[in-house]
Amino acid sequence: MSNRTFTMIKPDATRKGNTGAILEMINNGGFRIAAMKMVHLSKEKAGEFYAVHKERPFYGELVDFMSSGPITAAILEKDNAVDDFRKLIGATNPAQAEEGTIRKKFAASIGENAIHGSDSDENAKIEGDFFFSKLEQF
Ligand code: ATP
Ligand code: MG
Repeated sequence: MSNRTFTMIKPDATRKGNTGAILEMINNGGFRIAAMKMVHLSKEKAGEFYAVHKERPFYGELVDFMSSGPITAAILEKDNAVDDFRKLIGATNPAQAEEGTIRKKFAASIGENAIHGSDSDENAKIEGDFFFSKLEQF
């Protein structure tokens, strides 16, 4: 099992000035930052990242949203990183997110839900390598 996951602080959270507060929650959750940068995804790049959702009805909306402003992309390290980070961010729909989770605190809706977390070790590696070269992963 890998000890790394990948995250993006999404454009809604960037716009609201929540990046620092979210990074503090990630830090307090025991995650080490192994890579980090701010990026404004083009529609094409956002579409490529979320290609697994291409057939879903919300794909167009998701691509428009994720390319609507800068994000903070990061690779995070911790034992059991993927599962523990999904717990820290909370449910996709903030209405169902538990108290104390990042989405409960900062997400407005299922679409504008503040943060991404990888759903498997395999995808964590693919997603981290999408944003960061080997030289940028520490
Ligand atoms: P993420 O992959 O961003 O961490 P997730 O794994 O909790 O989120 P997914 O099912 O992978 O959820 O969906 C990816 C993203 O697509 C969601 O985070 C959300 O922004 C968007 N999304 C999912 N379902 C809907 C929906 N019904 N309507 C609008 N947007 C949605
Ligand atoms: Mg997902």
